[in-house]
Amino acid sequence: MLIVQKYGGTSVGSFDRIRNVANRVKALRDEGHDVAVVVSAMGGVTDQLIGMADQLCSNPPAREMDVLLSTGEQQSIALVTMALHAVGVDAVSVTGRQAGMTTSGSHTRARIHKIDSSLSRRYLSEGKVVIAAGFQGVNEEGLIQTLGRGGSDLSAIAFASSVGADLCQILTDVDGVYSADPRVVPEARKLPEISYDELLELASVGTKVMQSRSVEFAKKYDVKFEVCSSLNNNPGTIVTEEHEAMEAAVIRGVSIERSQARVTITGIPDEPGMSAQILSALGDDEINIDMIVSNIAHDGYARHSFTMHTNDLGRAQASLKPVLANLGPEAKLETEAAIAKLSVVGIGMRSHSGVAAQMFKALGQAVINIGMISTSEIKISITVDETNIEDAARVVHGAFGLDSAPTEP
Ligand code: ASP
Ligand code: MG
Repeated sequence: MLIVQKYGGTSVGSFDRIRNVANRVKALRDEGHDVAVVVSAMGGVTDQLIGMADQLCSNPPAREMDVLLSTGEQQSIALVTMALHAVGVDAVSVTGRQAGMTTSGSHTRARIHKIDSSLSRRYLSEGKVVIAAGFQGVNEEGLIQTLGRGGSDLSAIAFASSVGADLCQILTDVDGVYSADPRVVPEARKLPEISYDELLELASVGTKVMQSRSVEFAKKYDVKFEVCSSLNNNPGTIVTEEHEAMEAAVIRGVSIERSQARVTITGIPDEPGMSAQILSALGDDEINIDMIVSNIAHDGYARHSFTMHTNDLGRAQASLKPVLANLGPEAKLETEAAIAKLSVVGIGMRSHSGVAAQMFKALGQAVINIGMISTSEIKISITVDETNIEDAARVVHGAFGLDSAPTEP
């Protein structure tokens, strides 16, 4: 088998951890596999480099940031390769350029444009382990570019796809994707399998595990991968395209987002173009809104509510002020901070009915009041008071039978 493994910053965060990586790779070689590894910079190094830049320049040129930040991964590929030599494994490092990663777009947040992995494939065919730098590539002009924070995940998925890996493993400090954040829901369990879309929708659970851009890339190019721990050999979570058996579970997981705020505008004249005015003002000021709920007009006036991060509330109020004046004398703005969002996600929702009712019933029984409600094909989101969010998550997790089976006494 050809296995591509990606080790993140914590997994190469010390010399001991790097030795651990070398031993794990050696074990795979001893089993007869071909192995390529994509690595991040040692944990904290990218932040240190950013700190150095800040010491010398308040607004460092993005081009130079890329030259600087890419050195983090260049250190770690050489060190991991050396650690492999120390345990008798023939390995070579490749930088982003040598790995054939061509990027496009802006410095510090470039995209992968194409990959020519011929050099890496040649090394692999010679029996060498290839250690590739994540997070970096070169654009068509030959300038070094980086892919945005957390970009090594994307490098790994893209590299695995390019070399035609049989298995792509993302090794990290968590041992898989859980049905909820175990710090909030102690009964959360590790999922054996999850679809790309479910992982993308489970924002708070998913983004801790992997950069969402790389999940989107994996979905587009059909790269099945496993999220697992670099510190043990337990099976992790397979992330793959959906298949029929996956629909047996109604809900795959529960995710929460704290620090949300709601803005409601009432007294909006029931005329075309009103919603556009409101949303364009927010869009122009780059305020990200999340849930949008609106009612059909009553007595000629409509109302819209939307949520955003609490940090954006002040800016949203400012940007809506002139719009409100435009909407006429009846228009009023109302806000509420200290709310949180709870979402349940699962492709099984498509084929099961009554999912929302089940969720709302459980919350009602727990005397938790629901604010806004919005749904998509595979997700139901609600808002609750921030003080209720953890209880709400536990209640809903239990109501859908996601709690791990009690262990024998
Ligand atoms: N070293 C980069 C970062 O810290 C890329 C990565 O780790 O994925 O963001
Ligand atoms: Mg990462």
